[in-house]
Amino acid sequence: MDSPQVLNGMNAPRAAWPLVLAILLPLAYALVAPAAEPTPAPEAVAGQLRDAALAGHDVAYSWVSELTTRFGPRPAGSASEQHAAEWAAARLKALGFDNVHIESFPITAWVRGSESGSLVAPSAQPLVIAALGESPPTPATGVEGDVVIFRSLQDLVAAPGNSLSGKIAMVTQRMVRTQDGAGYGDAVAARTDGPKEAAQRGAVAFMLRSVGTDSHRMAHTGTTRYVDARVPVPSFALSNPDADQLERIAALGQIPRVHLFSGASYLTGAHSQNVIADVKGTTRAAEVVLLAAHMDSWDQGTGAIDDGTGTAIVVAAAKLMRDLPHRPRRTVRVVLVGSEEIAQPNAPFGDFGGNAYAASHLSELPEHVLAGESDLGADRIYSLALPASVAHGEFALATDRLLTPIGVLPAARPAEDGGADVGPLAKAGVPLFSMNQDATRYFDIHHTPDDTLDKVDRAQLDQNVAAWAAFIWLAADSDVDFRTPAAPRS
Ligand SMILES: [Zn+2]
Repeated sequence: MDSPQVLNGMNAPRAAWPLVLAILLPLAYALVAPAAEPTPAPEAVAGQLRDAALAGHDVAYSWVSELTTRFGPRPAGSASEQHAAEWAAARLKALGFDNVHIESFPITAWVRGSESGSLVAPSAQPLVIAALGESPPTPATGVEGDVVIFRSLQDLVAAPGNSLSGKIAMVTQRMVRTQDGAGYGDAVAARTDGPKEAAQRGAVAFMLRSVGTDSHRMAHTGTTRYVDARVPVPSFALSNPDADQLERIAALGQIPRVHLFSGASYLTGAHSQNVIADVKGTTRAAEVVLLAAHMDSWDQGTGAIDDGTGTAIVVAAAKLMRDLPHRPRRTVRVVLVGSEEIAQPNAPFGDFGGNAYAASHLSELPEHVLAGESDLGADRIYSLALPASVAHGEFALATDRLLTPIGVLPAARPAEDGGADVGPLAKAGVPLFSMNQDATRYFDIHHTPDDTLDKVDRAQLDQNVAAWAAFIWLAADSDVDFRTPAAPRS
């Protein structure tokens, strides 16, 4: 009953007291108690995530340790790659991620088989070689030929048609060591396009100086591709010291003659898979900030720095967010991509897991607000390239405040095309960012048998996780539009 006596509690009859208290106590509590903890500002949370990662979170190192120990090499389309994906999905579920699932897609797998190389003239010497991915096998007896040396891919391209009939073409361009890995982009064209160019000029095989910066007798494999090739020829990487030796022999006026064998094969009807895991957003859950790295690896090492650490960094960064008492506004999605390393015999020829994700999520891509990948080892991040739309302004300033203390400066240029995992998203209009890692020593190890867990520096791995966690939180717990181009600065 709506009685004035009830409102005037002091005069209320005894029986009405419980009702009076029920109304007044919550009111009184609301007046005198401290207000409920407000959701902390995104920048403050990002700072906490950064500091927690630096303090040694351990998810990243234990992830890459277990991945490389349990499954070893994970070539695209192999049982090992598939089992690693199943393990990753189970682990992501156990870590509390949402929407964990595996998306399979068909590929043609490439299997190395046995291989060998030797110099047969002017003296007999073993050569350290590795067949390039996608390269066809040699005949069972191998191929043998005189080596014609080209200093660069351009020199090979300048050679007249059929001028290499019966010969083995070799490009000896040396990869330059740089902090940003730019030397790789400059040298790798000889690996991707050299075999095709050699085949078009009648060569029976193709070799190149390994695209790598070390001076050990290890060959650096990697994929080639035979788009528009008349006849694919067997193709090989040669260790740097062996390439030096052949160049010196040629400089003496002698013609090196080489025997090569590869038992490589193709496995049609194979499949690879992407592993997806979300930290579901709150008020803008349909908007996705995407973190990618690839699960497959070359077959000779255990794929620790390429790209076990990348998968570890993005998983650990997202796990730190998952463990907070509140969620970001936007969904944070981890995509562990399959089949990144090997080209495909049919269009789109390369970047297969990235393409598969972009194709199967096409209708969602307009709401993918930002994407980046980790695929350059685990040495420290030294700069962050933002999308051009936010390269200046408050978001960039907040990013600088968070990341400069851990040695990450703003990059001189905005993020551009990204890598193989997120490149197909960029083509569909998804803005990219790039955490630029110190690649000074990366290409000593990349794509060699030496890509193993002991090369991972735990302190630098943690710095990577710290930068990713802080930056991704800032982007995900915001409504910043990364697509709209910034107004020109006056
Ligand atoms: Zn990689």
